[in-house]
Amino acid sequence: MTNRELTEAILKLKAEKRAVILSHYYTRGEVQAVADFVGDSLALATQAEKADADIILFAGVRFMGETAKVLCPDRKVLLPVPEADCSLAQACNGEQLARFKAEHPGALVVSYVNTTAEVKAHTDICCTSSNALKVVESIDPSQEIIFAPDQNLGSYIEKKTGRKLIKWQGCCHVHDRVTAAQIEELKAAHPEAKVLVHPECRPEVVALADVAGSTAAILDACGGDDKEYIVVTENGILWELQRRYPNKVFYPIALECEYMKMITLENIYRTLINEAPEVDVPTDVAAAARRSIENMISIK
Ligand code: SF4
Repeated sequence: MTNRELTEAILKLKAEKRAVILSHYYTRGEVQAVADFVGDSLALATQAEKADADIILFAGVRFMGETAKVLCPDRKVLLPVPEADCSLAQACNGEQLARFKAEHPGALVVSYVNTTAEVKAHTDICCTSSNALKVVESIDPSQEIIFAPDQNLGSYIEKKTGRKLIKWQGCCHVHDRVTAAQIEELKAAHPEAKVLVHPECRPEVVALADVAGSTAAILDACGGDDKEYIVVTENGILWELQRRYPNKVFYPIALECEYMKMITLENIYRTLINEAPEVDVPTDVAAAARRSIENMISIK
């Protein structure tokens, strides 16, 4: 089938099965086009809970599908490619985090949403790149904090808050590969452009940003008077940037998450037809993981 035929078939199946498709900004453009809601991790987590549907199909990587299942245990959550993982989620498992906690008794655990349900179950408060600063600032300054698993996001929070975190040494292999030299080169070529950087990048790269923030923050930052932007995050965001701001110019770094790009119209179609693969999270793990996500959502 062509992309157009697949799109039509998916839209028809969605209506017949009372299904919604939630997609992350890093997926392919044609995938974002069939989604009912496209967002960053924070928006997707809250949207999953609100979705009025029997089926939630998550066009994203595995930890996102798990998060949706944890928040919506009574609904069928489908994940087109369960092998689509995330290097941050792989960086730390539940057992390792439990051992790390034992080495730092009394420390509160703040974990990035890019983690498995098991890691969330060992976490006190989840965070996303949109709200990590707010989450850490909500905690008493005398309280020790373990921050897992993204050391780059942890460094960014340390710099913003002046607090010392006990950081897990993980990273996103996509954002971590950007170098300061690449940004300097782009800045020299486009001196008028504002530099927008995701805080999963290394500290020396974030230091060159005019705006450092989540995908949602980067999208909002392009709404001002400036006309040109150097965009330092996964290139799936360009689809939404060009949709929102057709008259602006974007200079991306060629960053691609191979896991996000595993989601295609073809496997979404197949998943809706078969109503499988379905995400399953053991009840006890889901209950504990849910507490850490709800603790995050409750921070205003
Ligand atoms: S871009 Fe990085 S953090 Fe995002 S899903 Fe891919 S590997 Fe994980």
